[in-house]
Amino acid sequence: MPESPEVQALVEFLDERIRGRAIADLDVGEFRIIKTRNRPPASLTGARIQRLERFGKHVGFDTEAGWLMVGFGRNGWIRWNAPEDPLGDEPVPEVARITLDDGAVMRVVDLGDFLAVTTSVVDGPADVAGIAALGPDPLLPDFSREAFEHALGTRRKQVKALLQEQTSLAGIGNAYSDEILHRARIAPTVHAALLDGAERDRLFHATVDVLRGALADRRGLPPDRLKQAKVAAMAVHGHGGQACPVCGTTIVDHVLGGASAQLCPHCQPERSGAGRAGGDSMPG
Ligand SMILES: [Zn+2]
Repeated sequence: MPESPEVQALVEFLDERIRGRAIADLDVGEFRIIKTRNRPPASLTGARIQRLERFGKHVGFDTEAGWLMVGFGRNGWIRWNAPEDPLGDEPVPEVARITLDDGAVMRVVDLGDFLAVTTSVVDGPADVAGIAALGPDPLLPDFSREAFEHALGTRRKQVKALLQEQTSLAGIGNAYSDEILHRARIAPTVHAALLDGAERDRLFHATVDVLRGALADRRGLPPDRLKQAKVAAMAVHGHGGQACPVCGTTIVDHVLGGASAQLCPHCQPERSGAGRAGGDSMPG
């Protein structure tokens, strides 16, 4: 699932290359991804792109004729072909194609078993319900400790679920929530309300450091290498059965409400009162 560091790296990569270019053709091959039927993406044909911006895990193209918002869902992405770079013959699960006036092509793809990419054409990003409801974004420079405390609140919700809840904090998914909790030495099952001051402190710094560190590492990579770079950088996520890079203990897989989590039982011990039952469950 694309998460904020890779989406931000994608946005910066594309923005540098497409800002000021006009959309020569916008072809949606899979009409089910269109969420604004009265204003289809093709209505932006001819419009100039003023900039690209990230909103949580969404990408927004600010054009003269309105915003094209793209949500990646679990397995969406954008493939980039520079003007001098012809499209290959290999089949790609393309759902939409944006051709620019200089010949560059962006293909929106969905690699999942079920279609989850969405596109909307709106006057402003906040016209998309999922974006209007986004919580504060730890990758943004103005993200504060106060905003983080507010997001954590005093709720009886498991902290891993809370980190991934887009209305609490924007941009974090399954992989980075595992990495953040490992860095903070906190078990994913602990309820946010039970975290003490030192744990909240560690969690705040881990959240900011993991996401900003990932962005610093990914910045400048071409879009087709970002996912691979993300996977290669993981300390615990996806490493069940392997040694924790901090202490050498075997990393374990936990299934939490249908989603998987990987953690180091030594670095992230469960505590009594960490409440595996009750409270909100994990998102599916
Ligand atoms: Zn460990």
